[in-house]
Amino acid sequence: MTDLQQPLPPHSPGKIFVFSAASGAGKTTLLDYLKRSVPNLVYSISATTRSPRMSEKDGVHYFFLSESEFKRRIASSEFAEWAVVHGHYYGTPRRFVDEVTVSGQHIIMDIDVFGKKKFDIVYPQSVGILLLPPSIDVLRQRLLRRNTDSLSVIDLRIANAVKEMEFAKKEGKYEYTVVNDDLERAKFEVVGIVRNVIAAR
Ligand code: 5GP
Repeated sequence: MTDLQQPLPPHSPGKIFVFSAASGAGKTTLLDYLKRSVPNLVYSISATTRSPRMSEKDGVHYFFLSESEFKRRIASSEFAEWAVVHGHYYGTPRRFVDEVTVSGQHIIMDIDVFGKKKFDIVYPQSVGILLLPPSIDVLRQRLLRRNTDSLSVIDLRIANAVKEMEFAKKEGKYEYTVVNDDLERAKFEVVGIVRNVIAAR
């Protein structure tokens, strides 16, 4: 048998990273940076019933679904996890996670702290990274500056952020916690974590 005819060694499945953060903690910027900086890292596109924001596209940022379609997919077990966040349904399509990781690519997903706990039941090998804002005051300033939500929605997001952080502290399984006090430093830290985990396989 020549070298070329030798069967290729089976590749290890890709790593699964779960990124959780309160909205306004700097998550989108960090995730964009990660996707550009780490090769073979695919972003998992969630489904949601909330309306798209100005710059968001269906199938790129989220799969935007009606509530009845979302419920149909829950009933046919198409989500690895799902949750109601800020009054809307959000869920992770299971098939996409499996296809990406079986192909040997790595996947990163954005899941809230409650959804992460359910996700771990299906994928206990996932690696959790929790992104924290430096303080609630800073979080409020960032949400106001972003100018995408009304004041009442911002208040709801702040109240939820407090609950989420308490839950993450008590019940979350996060191997890594990153405080986004300085965006450049946080980017460097998150990329370092992901690269090290991938290299250690
Ligand atoms: P946003 O509407 O600002 O994009 O996201 C709101 C919240 O929904 C964030 O905390 C985000 O982590 C969460 N989220 C996004 N996708 C999913 C998902 O697939 N599952 C769960 N459980 N939460 C998600």
